[in-house]
Amino acid sequence: MSKFLKNCYANLDAYVPGEQPKDCEYIKLNTNESPFEPSESVIKAVNSDEVKNLRLYSDPTASALKSKISELYGVNSENVYVANGSDDILNFSFMAFSGESKQAVFPEISYGFYKVFANLYGIESEMIPLKEDFSIDYKDYLYKNKFIIIANPNAPTGLTLSVKEIEEIVKTNKNNVVLIDEAYVDFGGESVVPLTKKYDNLLVSMTFSKSRCMAGARLGFAIGNKELIKDLELIKYSTNPYNINRLTLVAGVAALEENDYYMDRCKEIIKNREYTEKELKKLGFTLTDSKTNFVFAQCDFIDGEELYKRLKAKGILVRHFSLEKIKNYNRITIGTIEQMRALINAIKEIKEEVK
Ligand SMILES: *Cc1c(COP(=O)(O)O)cnc(C)c1O
Repeated sequence: MSKFLKNCYANLDAYVPGEQPKDCEYIKLNTNESPFEPSESVIKAVNSDEVKNLRLYSDPTASALKSKISELYGVNSENVYVANGSDDILNFSFMAFSGESKQAVFPEISYGFYKVFANLYGIESEMIPLKEDFSIDYKDYLYKNKFIIIANPNAPTGLTLSVKEIEEIVKTNKNNVVLIDEAYVDFGGESVVPLTKKYDNLLVSMTFSKSRCMAGARLGFAIGNKELIKDLELIKYSTNPYNINRLTLVAGVAALEENDYYMDRCKEIIKNREYTEKELKKLGFTLTDSKTNFVFAQCDFIDGEELYKRLKAKGILVRHFSLEKIKNYNRITIGTIEQMRALINAIKEIKEEVK
């Protein structure tokens, strides 16, 4: 750290991304990326003359992309905000919506970035414990009078709240923004986007990183009341108006033109998830009822960290969190059926080894 860094940043506890080791070709089941390539339309769009246009700034209004998103979700363009990854939406929301009292509420076990943003902006976080079975009790979030953020489905548990439960939270917190992070909604959850027409305090964020096979493109979007969207635009134009690069903009439009391709890939992931769940249960694992592109699993014959290490030694990466309450679990991304078979075989071998 240099002597020039402001004191308020000296103790930041930054987000630690899942490892991306370069030492060998791993089967990567640790960062919830898609195992599938983007659709043909995306590959074509990015390889087109658009590359030559890189000398020009990208469209700061992102109008073509916003119009595609609004069509798909049945809202107006003015209800859509697009960002350089949905992490940027979370960032701006913590910056803009935590209120004069600078307070935020989110589940104790959830996406690790929430805490990081709260710290970055000096926001006091109330982190509500999950229930014993790792589910969220929606009643804990009623009448909070604070900025609320909930991932639905939640990560790394994969569990969902119902639309009705979220509506209760939104309805009873009318003076604060409720941000629902739907990064995984396409894998079996139900979106609350329709509720954004009814409630001006509900913001929904989504990403192209998981279900749309484009984590490396960095593209996320938010849907909400047009005044909330204007607030996000205000912050964007005060920081980085050209927040999405040209190639990502055309890739996003092209992806939405082949939406069926992505929805079919999601179905494939769900099928592979069901296969993985069935096989892991046979091996003695306990799992949460995941509605995402990962499973969250633990077993009695080996502890979580040891399983993570032994899988890594066999060339398979999964995500282990050292947090006390979940340290016996691993979060395993769902890949292709071949990758999941390789995972199951590796775990069978490990089970033999530790016997
Ligand atoms: C992956 C993820 C994000 C971040 O998505 P990007 O669009 O890649 O920034 C946000 N929230 C949750 C819960 C995630 O798992």
